[in-house]
Amino acid sequence: MRSLNFALLSLCAATLLSTPTRAQESDAPITVIRAGTLIDGTSDKPIKNQVIFVQGDRIIKVSGDTGTLTGKDVIDLSHATVLPGLIDSHTHIFLWGEDPAKGGYDANILKAGIALRAARATFACRRALDQGFTTLRDVETEGAGYGDVEIRQAIAEGTIPGPRLFCATRGISSTGGYNLEGYAPELDMPKGVQIIDGPIEARKAARQQLDHGADWIKVYMTHRSWVDKQGHLVSQPTLTVEELKAIVDEAHGWGKKVACHAYNGIGLQRALDGGCDSIEHGLDMTDAQVKQMAALGTWYCPTLQIYYEDWEPENTPAGKRDRARASLHEASYKRALQAHLKIVFGTDIGGMPWTESIAREFPRMVEFGMSPMDAIQAATSRPAEMLDMKGEIGVVAPGAYADIIAVSGDPLKDISTLEHVNFVMHNGSVYKNEPSK
Ligand SMILES: [Zn+2]
Repeated sequence: MRSLNFALLSLCAATLLSTPTRAQESDAPITVIRAGTLIDGTSDKPIKNQVIFVQGDRIIKVSGDTGTLTGKDVIDLSHATVLPGLIDSHTHIFLWGEDPAKGGYDANILKAGIALRAARATFACRRALDQGFTTLRDVETEGAGYGDVEIRQAIAEGTIPGPRLFCATRGISSTGGYNLEGYAPELDMPKGVQIIDGPIEARKAARQQLDHGADWIKVYMTHRSWVDKQGHLVSQPTLTVEELKAIVDEAHGWGKKVACHAYNGIGLQRALDGGCDSIEHGLDMTDAQVKQMAALGTWYCPTLQIYYEDWEPENTPAGKRDRARASLHEASYKRALQAHLKIVFGTDIGGMPWTESIAREFPRMVEFGMSPMDAIQAATSRPAEMLDMKGEIGVVAPGAYADIIAVSGDPLKDISTLEHVNFVMHNGSVYKNEPSK
């Protein structure tokens, strides 16, 4: 996959660097990328005709393109739009879809052993990279234990290709708060998360997960949801504030953060009162809750698109629930936009098959009122900040990791262009370089 040889180029490129940089301190070859249009991840506007110098796994310099750099060893993206590698802040590499026709969620756990699940996670990682997603915050393995930490290691050691992973390991909920469920009560069924009851068990679970390599802790603060007699969406709360506080306190002590799955109501309120760092989904956040999030600086990862597909039939309880969720979600997201909450791009892919497009979340974010540039930053510099990687990922600038992608069109005019990434560099290595169509 490291397709190009830059040995020859490195000699010329080094002499082109006018100021002392790490390039002159190191012998590693330099890669040069000509960018016709650069959306750098932090600037309000695109910049025309830039040259990006990459050495090792980092960007060392970005400057104006004088047009003098030519030759077969220069990566010529002068007719493309170049961006930082994208970040999906809500994925499940160990989930293989939840299509009822294929056994639904349960088949992931009941019909696949750990080797098959690892093979599928490997496929998921390759798919993500192929679509220009160079970093994932993977928010729990759905019964695959600490498999994400080992996939992260396999990527880091170069055994398999894949994005930079932030792993949440097992996830946490309370009794009655997660699948598998609906089986005979005599059966001791496996669960897709670690189940805790009480602050002591909560803290212990957090310690175990952090000890085994969790970068984040993922907590489910709501579980089942339904439409009540008055037509309101109701979500079953799971952990108490005391239980969540024990987890948050433990995670923060380790310098780590806590992501809370929370739809609405009591569970969402407990998530905020318990001090969580990010709200996942937030289908129906009230004005007061949005205000609280703004005051606390809580991140919001809406995952819109997945709630707009695969609805159950219209006049069934599940069908009503699916439609209620979608319409509330749009309004909730718009409240978040208006309040300038810190929004990050996330898809929940894995819940939908990994063969599908990750970037189709973008058009939904824009359709509901976010500007295309803000949507791009929600998948670049904003999550970089959430992940404590500001300036290192999600930006094309000196010092950042060389995670660089390109598309042939203009994503500011048509955001769906991001579904067709034809160049991917990750940590300075070219993973994909297809001629634009
Ligand atoms: Zn999820």
